[in-house]
Amino acid sequence: MSQTPPPPMTAHRIFVMLAAGFMVLLGGITALLAIDQHRAMVSAEQLQAQTVPEIIRLQRLARNLDHLRHEGERIFSATTPDARQQALYLVMLVASHPGIQEHAEAAEVARATEAFLTEAVRRSGGEAGVDGSRLNEWKLISGRLGLLVDDISVQSAHLAANDLAQISETLRVARIKLAAALLLVIAFLAGTIHQLSRHLIRPLERIDHALSSLDVNGPPPEFPPTQLPEIHAVENAVRRLHAAQVNNEAVRRELEELANRDGLTGLLNRRHFMASAEAELKRAERYGRPVVVALADLDFFKSLNDTHGHAAGDRVLQAFAQLMRDSVRSTDLIGRYGGEEFAFLFPESGVEQASALVERFRHRFATEPVHLDNGVAVRVTVSIGLADASGRPLEVALHAADQALYAAKRGGRNRVMVAGSEE
Ligand code: GH3
Ligand code: MG
Ligand code: MG
Repeated sequence: MSQTPPPPMTAHRIFVMLAAGFMVLLGGITALLAIDQHRAMVSAEQLQAQTVPEIIRLQRLARNLDHLRHEGERIFSATTPDARQQALYLVMLVASHPGIQEHAEAAEVARATEAFLTEAVRRSGGEAGVDGSRLNEWKLISGRLGLLVDDISVQSAHLAANDLAQISETLRVARIKLAAALLLVIAFLAGTIHQLSRHLIRPLERIDHALSSLDVNGPPPEFPPTQLPEIHAVENAVRRLHAAQVNNEAVRRELEELANRDGLTGLLNRRHFMASAEAELKRAERYGRPVVVALADLDFFKSLNDTHGHAAGDRVLQAFAQLMRDSVRSTDLIGRYGGEEFAFLFPESGVEQASALVERFRHRFATEPVHLDNGVAVRVTVSIGLADASGRPLEVALHAADQALYAAKRGGRNRVMVAGSEE
């Protein structure tokens, strides 16, 4: 059984999940609030549809019972039989009120009151007042009526208080839930911002920094490990960019080298020699340092070509270049000036020191034969003209060296001549 690996946590997936999470959270909170609102509305409706009519009914009942008591008092305080009869009639009317009849206790008390008062009125007949001995019994019945009125009033007040307490409890719980929900949303947003900053914004800042400080001479940019493939891809692209830049720089240097060098001998070409020599002369002049230039020309090179062929001539040019390279310091400049003509610049050298050096390699070249590809060994000589270049323009110094070279040729070749000593 092969298990498929879990899909990578891409920024896109995370974004979708966060958005979904936020929507679920918001939906949950909205639903919660809607439920609470519904509860409060149900309680309010109940208060309106059931409790309020019940309160009105109880209050009417209490008023009727009070009315009953009041009429009873009137029977006892009446001074004429007519007035007693009238009050009794009202007592009967009130006692039979449906509001009293549908309340068991009230109906029972009302019945007892009605019976007692009817009996009292009947016994009193045509007398001026009711028999005083009945008054104490009436006080008890009246007290019971009063207590019942109080009970019913308290009961109706409780009904309203209960419903209001339920509504306010629902609202209190809703308030707590709302506060909790807000805290949850804030925590969710804070967490999201923190994660976005950690996984997206800070890596992007690091990439931006790496891009703006890419250095072809430095190591490839490094990034802390990331879980997001998008960030990983961009970081890899930055690394590839760096590698490409390093490669380009190497190619550029190579091309520059090729552009500055002579293809046959590997020495500086004339253009680059002149530019480098100008810079060296300026430097020497700025610091007041000595500097010497020289021109060398192989002797009878045309006849060497004619005798052994052009390839042999090339071979000799290469051998001469190699010999010179081996003989000078790394700070000295050597360039191929023309066909078989070479130019030199010796910084930090006086004429004597430089002429000793070129004299050495003139001698070496003249004495060490060059072995051609066909096995033949040839000896070639070189004539060299030397000139002090301190404080002089390059052209002037080279012209002087050329004059000295010409003098060396005239003087019989295979020699070194210093400018100014030609005569
Ligand atoms: P001199 O002693 O007076 O300098 O005589 P020379 O024969 O050396 O002088 P000339 O100027 O008459 O001849 C130079 C020759 O160098 C002519 C040319 O064919 C040859 N030459 C120039 N560049 C190259 C090259 O790159 N390879 C080869 N093989 N020969 C070259
Ligand atoms: Mg020449
Ligand atoms: Mg020559």
